[in-house]
Amino acid sequence: MFAAILVNLQTIYHAMIEEKSLNFLEEIIEADLASGKTKTVHTRFPPEPNGYLHLGHAKSICLNFGLGDTYKGKTNLRFDDTNPITEDTEYVESIKQDIKWLGFDWEEEHYASDYFDQLYAYAVELIKKGLAYVDDLSSEEIAATKGTPTEPGKQSPFRNRSIEDNLSLFQAMKEGSYKDGEKVLRAKIDLSSPNMHMRDPIMYRIKHASHHRTGSKWCIYPMYDFAHGQSDSIEHISHSICTLEFEVHKPLYNWYIEQLGIHPSRQFEFARLNLTYTVMSKRKLLQLVQEQIVDGWDDPRMPTLSGIRRRGFTPAAVRNFCERIGVQRRENIIDVGLLEFFVREDLNKSALRRMVVLDPIKLIITNYPEGQSEILTSENNPELEDNGGYRDLPFSRELYIEAEDFMEEAAKKWFRLAPGMRVRLKSAYIVECKDFKKDANGKVTEVHCEYIPESKSGQDTSGINVKGTIHWISAPHALEAEVRLYDRLFKVEDPSSEEGDFKSYINPNSLAIIPAAKIEASLKNAHSGEHFQFIRKGYFTLDSKYSKPDKLVFNRTVTLKDTWSKEAKK
Ligand code: ATP
Ligand code: MG
Repeated sequence: MFAAILVNLQTIYHAMIEEKSLNFLEEIIEADLASGKTKTVHTRFPPEPNGYLHLGHAKSICLNFGLGDTYKGKTNLRFDDTNPITEDTEYVESIKQDIKWLGFDWEEEHYASDYFDQLYAYAVELIKKGLAYVDDLSSEEIAATKGTPTEPGKQSPFRNRSIEDNLSLFQAMKEGSYKDGEKVLRAKIDLSSPNMHMRDPIMYRIKHASHHRTGSKWCIYPMYDFAHGQSDSIEHISHSICTLEFEVHKPLYNWYIEQLGIHPSRQFEFARLNLTYTVMSKRKLLQLVQEQIVDGWDDPRMPTLSGIRRRGFTPAAVRNFCERIGVQRRENIIDVGLLEFFVREDLNKSALRRMVVLDPIKLIITNYPEGQSEILTSENNPELEDNGGYRDLPFSRELYIEAEDFMEEAAKKWFRLAPGMRVRLKSAYIVECKDFKKDANGKVTEVHCEYIPESKSGQDTSGINVKGTIHWISAPHALEAEVRLYDRLFKVEDPSSEEGDFKSYINPNSLAIIPAAKIEASLKNAHSGEHFQFIRKGYFTLDSKYSKPDKLVFNRTVTLKDTWSKEAKK
C-alpha cells in the first residue's frame, strides 16, 4: 500500500519536473532578457549574520542560485551586517558552511559593512540635495509623531535645518560627539504618504558598539532600507529577490536609488516558506537555543540547516523539496511530511541496510548447537546494482529480536512470532516459536524457537512459506550503541499562530534516547555522513556531535513511512 503511494508521488513529481512551466520570476527575467533591460542575470543571497540558516533560507538560496545558474548569470553572497549588536563571525562561518553543504557556490563574497564609507558618502549627497536631515527627536518620539495610515505624520521641529547644519551635525554624529539615540539622520520624503515607510524614514542611528568586521571605526550604522538597495546597486544586482514583507519597502528602495542616480537594481518579492510543526524565525530559534529548550542551533529537531544535516537530511532532498514547492506570491504553510518524502526518496537510493534491535529480547534456537556459529551474508542495498555488495552476518544459537515482534498469544492477522508461529529471520532461516519465558514482572525475556536447517536464505529447500520476516542480531556478536529517535518539535501545526507563547507548544516527547540498542558489528566502522537504513526502523546517521568510536550515537533521520499523519487522524 505504502509502496504504491510512494510510486505515485514519485511519478507525479517526475512528471512535474519534466513539464515544468516558468515561475513568475523566470517569466520576469525572460522578459527582461528579451527586451534587453537585463544583459546578465545577477542575483544575491543576503543573510544577516545574526543566527543560523534555516529551511526558509534554503528556499531563498535555491531560488537565487538557481536563477543564477539557469540564466548563466551570477549569484553573490552578501552579508547584511548593519546591526553590530546581534551579529557575529560565528554566524558568518556557519552560513558559508551551510550554503556550500546545500551545493552552491557564490560568485563574489560581500559585506554591507564594506560599503559603510560609500553609504556615508551617499547620505552626505542626500543631505546636500536637501533630502536628508538630522533629527534630535528620540526614536520613540519619531514613532509617536508618524501618524497612522489615514492620518499624516507631524513634522519634526528639526526638519528644516539648513544643509550646512545637517552636514556638520551628521559629521559630528559620525565622530562620536553624541550618545546612542541622541540624534538620527532621516530622509526628507513625505509625511503624508499612505506608505508609512516613506514618512521620513530613519537612515542612520548612533550605536557605540563594536562591529564584527569594522570594530570601533563606526558609531553610526545605516538602517536596513538605506543599506540594502544601495548594496544591490553597487554590485549591479539585476533582480533583488526577497520575501513579501519587503513589498511595502519597495517605494523607498526605489526612491534612494533614484535620488542618488545610481545603478537601478530592482526588487521582486515571493512568499516565504512556512513549514508545519516548527517555527522559522531566527529570533524564535534563538530563544529555543538560549533557553536551552534545544541542544544548540544544530539540535537535530531544529529546522536549521545545521540541525537537519546533523539529523541526516541530505542536500539533494532539500533541493528537490525546494524545486517541488516552487515560488508563489501567496503565503501558505507546507506539510513537513513533503520534505520527509524527499528525504526518504533520496536515502532509499543510497542508505546501507543494517540490522539494529532497539528494544531487545532474546530468541534462543533450541535445536542449534551451543557454541556453534556461522557467517551468513546480507545485501547492502537492494536498490543498487548488485545489491550494493554483501556484508557478513554472524548467526548463532542466541539472537536478539525486537520485543514488539513477539506476542504471547497471536492476534488476528499477526504474522510475526507467537507460540506455534513461524517467521523468517531476515537473510537467515525460518524459525518456529515453541515457548517463551517471563520475569517476575510478567515481561517476556526469552523466546524459544526451533530453526529449520533447510530454509537458509538463498538456498531454501524447505518448501515452507511464511508471511512475516523480522530482523535480528546474533547476541554474542552484537555491539551496543545509543540511538536517538526524534519527533516533531511542536505539538501543533503552526505554533506561531497559536495564542500565547509559542514555546508552550513544544512537544515534550520530541526526543527519545535508547541508551543501549543492539547493533550489527559491521556498524562499528560507520563514519559521519554515512546513511543507513536500519531495517524496518527508519533511516539513521551517526550523530556528528556526540558519537565517538568507543560510544556510537545514531540519530534517526526519518521513519520509513509517515506515521505522524496516521496518528494525527486518530
Ligand atoms: P528570520 O525572519 O528568520 O530572522 P530574516 O528574513 O530576517 O529571517 P535574513 O538573514 O535577513 O533573515 O534572510 C536572508 C534572506 O532569506 C532574505 O532574502 C529573506 O527574505 C530570506 N528568507 C528568510 N526567511 C525565509 C523564509 N522563511 N522563506 C523564504 N525566504 C526566507
Ligand atoms: Mg532580516
